[in-house]
Amino acid sequence: MRAVVLEAHGEPLAVREVSEPSAPSDGVVVETEACGVCRSDWHAWQGHGEWVDDRVPAGQVLGHEPAGRVVEVGADVDSLDVGDRVVVPFNLADGTCPACRRGRTNYCEGATALGFGPEAPGAFAERFPVPNAEVNTVELPSGVSSVAAASLGCRFVTAFQGLDAVGDVSGGDVVVVVGCGGVGLSAVQVGAALGGSVVAVDVRDEPLDFAAEQGARWTVNASEVDDVPARVRELSGGADVSVDALGASETCRNAVGSLASGGTHVQVGLTGAADRGEIPLPMDAIVQRGLAVAGSRGMPPARYEDLFRLVERGGVDPEALVTETVELSAVPDRLAAMSEFDAVGIEVVTEFG
Ligand SMILES: [Zn+2]
Ligand SMILES: [Zn+2]
Repeated sequence: MRAVVLEAHGEPLAVREVSEPSAPSDGVVVETEACGVCRSDWHAWQGHGEWVDDRVPAGQVLGHEPAGRVVEVGADVDSLDVGDRVVVPFNLADGTCPACRRGRTNYCEGATALGFGPEAPGAFAERFPVPNAEVNTVELPSGVSSVAAASLGCRFVTAFQGLDAVGDVSGGDVVVVVGCGGVGLSAVQVGAALGGSVVAVDVRDEPLDFAAEQGARWTVNASEVDDVPARVRELSGGADVSVDALGASETCRNAVGSLASGGTHVQVGLTGAADRGEIPLPMDAIVQRGLAVAGSRGMPPARYEDLFRLVERGGVDPEALVTETVELSAVPDRLAAMSEFDAVGIEVVTEFG
């Protein structure tokens, strides 16, 4: 079958034949119907993450935002059948460690990440295996298309978990979202759906216009103002919750600086080679103004039901963020284009053969 393979960091990705997966006794094989193209794929391709021992090795099949249909079921799997439509959260959990037992499967201590480790070949492929499938698949409601489901993960679920569970956004809150790529636009939609007044910040007008369509009340072009936090406070009175959806010193510090007293910063963007995981923050101001700084990654599968309910009742529309559907063979070019930081919205692979 065909798959997108990382052969060497930063070198063109290969689309080539790889061997067929088979279902482990506790797992399934899923035929991919849709898989989102994400900046995390770009980080993996670039070889980022070594500073947190998270560098993706050469030889990896990438792709971590899939939806598809079960085509093979392992002998020990009872809850899934051939033909079931599923979405697969990228954090593949063991279901048994202390974090999983507390329901925090997105922080599983024995986790492997789909498309990021040799034991978990990814979904930029015609088919992919899912270990421990009863924990690591979520059945799709009939009202949610494969493209919508693929556009949920990882960006939309990250935004939903970050704003709903971590930021505890509710009606009347001001939410500032810095960086309007896939996860940022998702956060704009989710923040508005949770009743927040959203300030969207980016350095380009095009994603800001898109953010306004997705529910942002105010937009700030950071390349046109000297002091982004001052502008956010002037517009909104200061944010109750801030999100750095990019992962860089400037975006993180602008987000934290935009908070009103008692506000919470949620970091969802992972840093790149310029910061290598280290961002200085104004700690005295954090103390004096009672701010909280939290990280958030992924979402436990158990919470998908809440998100599906929000999608089905029209509160959020993840498919509206999909600006293009592409073939598997386009993935190397689409990731290369991410080096320019000029795409808008989410691209989803829908043709795999
Ligand atoms: Zn675990
Ligand atoms: Zn992703």
